[in-house]
Amino acid sequence: MDYLPIFANLRHKPVLVVGGGKTAARKIQLLIRAGAHIQVVSYELSKALSDMLATNNIQWIAKIYHPKQLAQVFLVIAATNNSQLNSRIYKDATDRYLLANVVDELPNCSFIFPSIIDRSPVVIAISSSGTAPVLSRLLREKIESLLPAHLGQMAKIANQWRSKVKARFYILSDRRRFWDKAFNGLFSSHIASGNIDEAKRVLDRQLSEINVSLGEIILVGAGPGSSGLLTLRGLQVMQLADVLLYDYLVSDEILNLGRRDAERICVGKRANAHSVSQKDINNMLVKLAKQGKRVVRLKGGDPLIFGRGGEELQAAASAGVPFQVVPGITAAVGVTAYAGIPLTHRDYAQSVLFVTGHCRKNGTVIDWSALSQSDQTLVIYMGSIASEEITHQLITHGRDLTTPVAVISRGTYQDQQVQTGILQNLFELTRHTPAPTLLVIGTVVNLHQQLAWYQNSKKIHG
Ligand code: SAH
Repeated sequence: MDYLPIFANLRHKPVLVVGGGKTAARKIQLLIRAGAHIQVVSYELSKALSDMLATNNIQWIAKIYHPKQLAQVFLVIAATNNSQLNSRIYKDATDRYLLANVVDELPNCSFIFPSIIDRSPVVIAISSSGTAPVLSRLLREKIESLLPAHLGQMAKIANQWRSKVKARFYILSDRRRFWDKAFNGLFSSHIASGNIDEAKRVLDRQLSEINVSLGEIILVGAGPGSSGLLTLRGLQVMQLADVLLYDYLVSDEILNLGRRDAERICVGKRANAHSVSQKDINNMLVKLAKQGKRVVRLKGGDPLIFGRGGEELQAAASAGVPFQVVPGITAAVGVTAYAGIPLTHRDYAQSVLFVTGHCRKNGTVIDWSALSQSDQTLVIYMGSIASEEITHQLITHGRDLTTPVAVISRGTYQDQQVQTGILQNLFELTRHTPAPTLLVIGTVVNLHQQLAWYQNSKKIHG
């Protein structure tokens, strides 16, 4: 190990910065965040630095560097454009056993600045020991995306409970189990949802009850297929799941992002071929959560759009099981974007309707004349089976039979297929397409010709 990572407390401590340009300003900004008192030596100051001077703990102590300026400081940073001067500062500091950093000159650094992920009080520092700063930055971005924004707040609240937890659990492993459950469970979820008081109550409850099982259900939208379209929050909760309950629309690529040792249960739902009934799914969700498990219910697209997610939440609510929702990119939005079809466009469509072609068979009346308006885009989920009836009704209710239509299969997947044609031929277009398939009806479909961008989109013009 060439560098020992230490977290230095610089609050109210003097730090010398020699240099007054952009580089110095960058370092000073960081030091201000750490609460340091900064002493600047520079012939002149950049605009950014003089602005900072007015409002922060910065003193412009001299124009010219002199070793005596090192007498009463904890750290030294040299950021001048004179490399001889920089080396001299480094040597003077080292002779006085002071830590020094010459910006971007590794041999003249006795300490270096890591890449930082700041969720104060949680701070993560990454370094490649100066060998590959870009790699550290890449790693930082990756880790950054995995760490929820509420991490810092969670740590602050946990700190307030530390002594209580210590008093309640004498043995370290018991304390560890307590915190493990809190950080991976309901306490964390409540903080993420902004229910701070409830989060605190959870800690109290966990402290006072023995063997409490506090599970929860998190309804997550997985997006239409490509794993890149899962949300960050979706990914974060998937990595904390005890159980992943998913249906057939969720891609393997996305499932593989879940916690390795999470139990995976497929409740494979397809139109007209439900392998597990909705009632059984609702019961299963509630049962698992009541066993104290964190159940992530993964659904294709957005869970509350034609996904019966609402019914699952109702089941959770009636059973008194806590729940959260992580929205997803619904097929209408994701799939059309990947097909190069804007859902609205000032010249062609002023509104967009999302409808399902698969209605509950209890006499639901469809307002076909509203669906047949021109100047609007109609997106039909689960529409393939009923496409003949849909075409007939729309034309009967006034939609022009030459209205452009698109049939998009397996949208956003590598093997996405986009077929375009006119309303009159919709049925033909839907005949041999692999599921899932989305129907788009409206003049905006014409833009596909110009805007198709997704690499493997196969165009078959009908
Ligand atoms: N909750 C989901 C929709 C579930 S209904 C969402 O918000 O997207 C299932 C229907 O969604 C399918 O029959 C199909 O019409 C559409 N669909 C979902 N994923 C799709 C995809 N990748 N490509 C095309 N259509 C898709």
